[in-house]
Amino acid sequence: MGYQHDNCSKQVKKAGVAERLNASACKADAWGFDSLRRRNSRKDVTMQLYSTLSRTVESLETLSPDRVSLFVCGPTVYDFSHIGHARTYVVFDVLAKYLRWTGKEVFYLQNITDVDDKIINRAKEEGVSQSYLARKFETEYLRDMHALGIDAVSYYARATTHMPEIIAQIERLFARGVAYVTETGVYFNLDTFDHNGELSRQDTANRISRVSCSTKHNPEDFALWKLGEFGEYTWDSPWGRGRPGWHIEDTAISEKYFGQQYDMHGGGLDLIFPHHEAEIAQMESLEGKHPMVKYWVHTGFLTVNGEKMSKSLGNFITIRDALKTWNKDVLRYFILLSHYRSPLQATNEGLVNAQRGFEHIRAVAKKDAGVNTVGRKAFIDAMESDLNTPAALAAVQGLAASGDLEALKEFGEILGINFLRKTSAPISILQDIRGELRARKQFELADMIRERMVSAGITITDPPL
Ligand code: AMP
Repeated sequence: MGYQHDNCSKQVKKAGVAERLNASACKADAWGFDSLRRRNSRKDVTMQLYSTLSRTVESLETLSPDRVSLFVCGPTVYDFSHIGHARTYVVFDVLAKYLRWTGKEVFYLQNITDVDDKIINRAKEEGVSQSYLARKFETEYLRDMHALGIDAVSYYARATTHMPEIIAQIERLFARGVAYVTETGVYFNLDTFDHNGELSRQDTANRISRVSCSTKHNPEDFALWKLGEFGEYTWDSPWGRGRPGWHIEDTAISEKYFGQQYDMHGGGLDLIFPHHEAEIAQMESLEGKHPMVKYWVHTGFLTVNGEKMSKSLGNFITIRDALKTWNKDVLRYFILLSHYRSPLQATNEGLVNAQRGFEHIRAVAKKDAGVNTVGRKAFIDAMESDLNTPAALAAVQGLAASGDLEALKEFGEILGINFLRKTSAPISILQDIRGELRARKQFELADMIRERMVSAGITITDPPL
């Protein structure tokens, strides 16, 4: 069996200090047995989850009954993250937290892509080193994740600190006869792989690798190693100096911590092809273990006017800008109001409605009136049903109306949303001062206070002037 949970703990311990970005979360996950886990060993329930591989909703059966190995593709760190990224990472944060709540031990691994064309080009444009740029935006990414309450990741693993594993994996693929060298690099020969295209179910004509290169044997083949000098981020290898292709870091990292088979792999819809197809080809060609992963979980896009929010289209709002107006509870509430597989339109109106809905829950959830069994069951049923967070939030509204404050606190921790109002004298004094400033048309100061309050997690709803 490919699952190596103990191995992942050992590997994390061996990793360098700089890379222990979230080692405390990892420790708490693997050995901490937090209170939620003790209280909720729900062996009677089996989560239903859609897998892109089978195109069906399946009962979750992991390789080891009480453990889940989850790998989610992390960011390419060359710029600030936007709220499209937030959508994907909030969803996996909630999935991991929910699975932990049900009593499972979840090892949630995320890679950091810190060697890539975009990093090399941006570093050149800005006149800084590649490592400076990558470290800077890795830190900013983690800062944004923290601000959004995303803290379920057990371990973040950088591509650049896994170069021995990457090179060793390519050597093994070579020894298997599935890779070849040309003057531009080392390529994977897709003719050798029988399961090619199973995940994306596209015909061959659509499955052409995005890297066009005249020295490839077949246009579908993809690069494992690119030969050349790429400045600071260039390494020696048995084939010459160069750097890894796009896909190999993920399988080198996931094999190191989980082995060749593990439970779940996640990311946005755009990664199915070619990225996830390539990962499957690489990993399954090592020793023929199939499937590499049974549950492929893909999030739908956050869109703007029907188009994916992305850096290249220039239609993005950074997470930190969004957090100047909406606090993290409202942003998470907005994201979770849609099912994770559906597209989600980013509109001001949608966010205003989310804020209203969220405020309403906070306003009615005042007096504790005891357990609402029906509401609790509705929440759990929704979460078990392919992570149906819109239905779970409807259940939360019922729990708020009936005054089941304990459930609101407990389920709020899973969703990463604080449904229970915190009122304090300093906050209402600040709000009164803002009201006065607005009435006197001193908007600059009023806005400054507002921004500071929102970034401290305090929701502000201004009455009309
Ligand atoms: P990137 O750094 O662009 O590789 O993206 C990191 C993760 O965010 C990947 O899983 C992407 O699929 C996901 N992602 C990027 N843009 C969006 C979007 N507009 N909506 C949802 N997920 C996204």
